[in-house]
Amino acid sequence: MQHAAKSACSATVHRQSMNTYTVRDLRHTMERWNTEYALVLDEAHASNLHRTRLLSPVAAALNGLFALIFLWLVLSAADGDPAYRWKLWQLFTHTGMGIALAACGLAGRPLEHRHRSWPGRWLPVFSIAICIGFSILITAIDQWITAAITPFFIACIVSSLTIYLRPQMAAILYSVACLAFSWLIGFTQHNPDILLSNRINGLAVCAIGFCLSVLMWRKFTTIAVQKHQLEKAHAELQLKQRELERLTRQDGLTGLFNRNTFVELSTNELKRAKRQGSATTILLLDLDHFKRVNDTWGHPAGDAVLRNVAQNMVNTVRSTDLVGRLGGEEFIVLLPHTTAESGRKIAEKIRQRLEQSDVRWEGHRIAVTASIGLSSTTADEEREFDSLYTEADKALYLAKQRGRNRVI
Ligand code: GH3
Ligand code: MG
Ligand code: MG
Repeated sequence: MQHAAKSACSATVHRQSMNTYTVRDLRHTMERWNTEYALVLDEAHASNLHRTRLLSPVAAALNGLFALIFLWLVLSAADGDPAYRWKLWQLFTHTGMGIALAACGLAGRPLEHRHRSWPGRWLPVFSIAICIGFSILITAIDQWITAAITPFFIACIVSSLTIYLRPQMAAILYSVACLAFSWLIGFTQHNPDILLSNRINGLAVCAIGFCLSVLMWRKFTTIAVQKHQLEKAHAELQLKQRELERLTRQDGLTGLFNRNTFVELSTNELKRAKRQGSATTILLLDLDHFKRVNDTWGHPAGDAVLRNVAQNMVNTVRSTDLVGRLGGEEFIVLLPHTTAESGRKIAEKIRQRLEQSDVRWEGHRIAVTASIGLSSTTADEEREFDSLYTEADKALYLAKQRGRNRVI
């Protein structure tokens, strides 16, 4: 007894948790679908409008052809033809459907890039409503001569496969279609058994149309969402790649060219100077007693000073000059089309600016000076980067030896 009560109780708990799980799961799925809906809505409207513009004229032409066939049948009908009424009404209905669809095709033309507008969004829905509506009329007229409901079946399947409808919208469309179909064939199908069978078949057709529509919508949404994610990932990857390229060419702290990039660019610049027969000057700059800055204020303060020095140097020289950080607190500048004399003036300007500018750090002012070694090629001289660099390094050593904060 006790065991039976226990298992009944656990079954109830299990069922309850199942129900809670299903409801929660369903809500979660609906929320996800709604989020995805907002993401893909634009693409769905664009695709629907494109298809309406393409397919409406084709469907209109097909109806025009059917109308011509029925016109010929009407004109050639013998007196007392029992199918005359059917032929005549099919002529009218196909003509009406052809005109309505041709109008949809024409209305879609000026809306080409306006799928977000109200007419752009609703024209596709309107055109499949026309298709299904006229197919119900045609099927109802068909009941005078046949029990088949083929036109309605074709219209529902084709509509669900061509236009992407949100499930809610599809549910409304196919419910209305089902009711209209059941009501209208009641006027033309007088055999109660066939009428009942057709109404049941009509319901099945609408259910199939609805399910197909939901499947198509979900497939489209999944693909569109994946496309969005891929595009996003691709954009992020490109951004990271650009950042990586930048980091391989630039110094991470100051944003100046790093050693390799500077040497590469300088080598090219010297080759150009040789071809053009112009002078080039390089400046090698080393901060004075920089170790003290780190020891006194800490490395983050030292980093701020290095960034400030870099900014000062960039602001002082021309945009066509090259400024790089060789490492530590050593910087290098290449001045194209610049003689030793002009280079010296620029070096002096940099030195003075650094001497005058200070960095604010935790309420204090940190001042630094720099020693600069300079070397130049003359217009008719051919020099490699390494030889210029060695010479500038010797000059820098002398500047340090002679008391720092100077240009040699
Ligand atoms: P001198 O006037 O002879 O050049 O003396 P100095 O102290 O500037 O020269 P030294 O070569 O002894 O010290 C350079 C210091 O630069 C040592 C090192 O801690 C510091 N340094 C190198 N790279 C960085 C960096 O990226 N950030 C910071 N904050 N400090 C750095
Ligand atoms: Mg140094
Ligand atoms: Mg130094």
